[in-house]
Amino acid sequence: MEKFGEGLCALLLLLYFAHVARCDSRCIAQFGTCKYKSSGCPGGSFTRGLCNGPYDRQCCVPGGGSGGSGSGSAGSCSGVSIVSRAGWRARSPKSTSYMSTPVSLVFIHHTAGSTCSSSSSCARVARETQNFHMNSRGYSDVGYNFLVGGDGKIYEGRGWNRVGAHTLGFNSRAIAISFMGNFMKQSPTSSAINAAKNLIACGVREGKIRSSYKLYGHRQAGSTSCPGDRLYRIIQSWPRYTSGRA
Ligand SMILES: [Zn+2]
Repeated sequence: MEKFGEGLCALLLLLYFAHVARCDSRCIAQFGTCKYKSSGCPGGSFTRGLCNGPYDRQCCVPGGGSGGSGSGSAGSCSGVSIVSRAGWRARSPKSTSYMSTPVSLVFIHHTAGSTCSSSSSCARVARETQNFHMNSRGYSDVGYNFLVGGDGKIYEGRGWNRVGAHTLGFNSRAIAISFMGNFMKQSPTSSAINAAKNLIACGVREGKIRSSYKLYGHRQAGSTSCPGDRLYRIIQSWPRYTSGRA
């Protein structure tokens, strides 16, 4: 009888942990960690309703919860420094079409051009990218929804709600985040990587990206080396990275 009791206990414990793991997935999708409030959340803040267990077991999300001030159509993303289109002196789009959100797919790209490390150089690279897309490729605007600078800032491209020009076959149902630079042989700065992760987390919080989203590198949807060997290796450790063809 005692043996049976032990076995039952172990089974219940196993079921409990399986349940916790499953229910915590909404927190993990936002790059958060489920923990008790008493243990603190340095550098972030707690969000309710994303973790299994008692009320004070909440999701510690890096860079803060929802709210805060944002700019333009990028909306509010506290903890993420978003440079508005006006902030990097973007040209106006030639035309605009909107997509419905939340989207289920996030694609990571690189611009395969210059890297940048300061506000002024990143704004310049964003303008160069936009000029290349509009003048040489014939796009109506810079192709990506967001660009990521080596300075750890996000540069607003088409934003959350506008169809981009980045991943053939997926443009109207995906968000494209492009790291400025060529990441075949070099890695992005850690502040750029954190900025991109925080942007995705914010997109989930703000209802622009489904919490069940799939994360891919551009090369999984076309014959391209984008987002570069080094960056592609990095995103494979991110939450919700999905292997195989998109
Ligand atoms: Zn790409």
